[in-house]
Amino acid sequence: MTERADVLVVFGATGDLAKRSLFPALHELQRRGRLDIPVIGVARSEWDDDQLRAYAKSSIEQYAPHGLDQTAWDALAKQLRFVQGEYHHPETYEQLKKTMGGAKHPLAYLAIPPSVFDDVIEGLAKAGINEGGRICVEKPFGRDLASAKELNACVLNAFDEDDVYRMDHFLGKESVLDLLVFRFDNLILEPLWNRHYISNVQITLAEDFGVEGRGAFYEEVGALRDVVQNHLLEILILVAMEPPAAPGARALRDEKVKLLRSMRSIEPRNVVRGQYNGYRSEGGVAPDSDVETYIALCAHIDNWRWAGVPFFIRAGKKMKMTATEIVVEFNEPPRPLFRDESHRRPQANHFTFRVKPDEGLGLTVQIKEPGDHIASAPVELKYSYDDNRESLEETAYERLLGDAIAGDPSLFARADVIEEAWRVVMGVIEQPTPIREYAPGTWGPEEANTVPRTGWHDPTTA
Ligand code: NDP
Repeated sequence: MTERADVLVVFGATGDLAKRSLFPALHELQRRGRLDIPVIGVARSEWDDDQLRAYAKSSIEQYAPHGLDQTAWDALAKQLRFVQGEYHHPETYEQLKKTMGGAKHPLAYLAIPPSVFDDVIEGLAKAGINEGGRICVEKPFGRDLASAKELNACVLNAFDEDDVYRMDHFLGKESVLDLLVFRFDNLILEPLWNRHYISNVQITLAEDFGVEGRGAFYEEVGALRDVVQNHLLEILILVAMEPPAAPGARALRDEKVKLLRSMRSIEPRNVVRGQYNGYRSEGGVAPDSDVETYIALCAHIDNWRWAGVPFFIRAGKKMKMTATEIVVEFNEPPRPLFRDESHRRPQANHFTFRVKPDEGLGLTVQIKEPGDHIASAPVELKYSYDDNRESLEETAYERLLGDAIAGDPSLFARADVIEEAWRVVMGVIEQPTPIREYAPGTWGPEEANTVPRTGWHDPTTA
């Protein structure tokens, strides 16, 4: 259905995601006049409407980007209701239906652990709340290909694919979306954006912090599942996909899955896994843990545009700095005519897309070094979103929640995209390579330095 949702039902409204992200996003939507529907929280906790309001208010005070706006809060508070019940009890859904009044197009948001998804989906279907409704499901979408297929089958039992909104907040980020616009609204790129001119692509997601008390959670995921299979493959897709055949969600998602289908399964020999010294002493982490806090890999896309161009991906915790960057490196000129003062060859041109921090993009080109002789030196032509802060005001959750309410699935993952992404990384999961240690505050294990033969472009502070 594409109608605007007429009620939002948040399962797990007492939880962490609701507190950190959903209530602050709802408050922002309200502040901008984009939330005109009731919001019903459902959970097992013995709360009432007022307790939910108190929880929402304190979460907004703590996490809303611009603090609490009294007018917006008053309007949101009036719209908030609470339904208490067990997720597997039919009475919970009967009570929910009553509270929904005559709403015909509910949006159900599953902010609950995946272990209770089936109960909720079954409960919604038995009560007929799925009819005319849509559902929003949070990452992780499974932990491997088999569990992703199971999860998709479970959701699709009760909802049509077009009514399933799989939320990966990364896709709502301004700088990630800019990749899409940059790719397809700049014709000058098109002749260059292929294997004839591009030598490699590098995608780095580095965090200078560790697991921060979430060791038990991290033990279940590791870097590959946490950020590579979802966020970084999505970025790779946006860099590499073909132009969609038409505007709109379907054509965009068709191209995404087409790109993934032309990706080779990543081979273990192209993977380096690392773990920072000290990880095994973190709370909730096994003393002999084999979970990677760092991963570097090389992916290949076997299509006409990209055959032979390596796509390098790395992600790690306790790295030298926190930064997410994409570098698209062009081939070197066939014959360097001008070197710098130290007789070094000119750098290959490259685009740098900065997703975090200092969102923006840069193009590194060679110019004549000022001085007596003709020597070549790199300079970066830069655009910084920081100079246009206003445009970053909308948070990813606000944008995506607004889209889900409005019925625009463009920025949500489709079942086939999720499953193909798992297919691409399954070799890494099934045949894990040995763990290499690395010191906190570095760029990861030494063995990863040569994953790109010409070395990594390390992010720098702006
Ligand atoms: P929580 O652990 O905070 O759980 C949310 C709510 O679900 C709880 O308040 C609780 O409500 C109910 N719940 C918790 N455990 C169980 C259980 N075993 N059986 C039944 N109900 C339970 O989870 P989060 O809010 O952190 O995450 C919700 C979903 O969002 C998960 O799928 C998570 O992976 C995903 N996610 C979370 C992010 C975050 O920042 N927290 C970020 C990205 C994704 P009650 O007991 O009142 O019913």
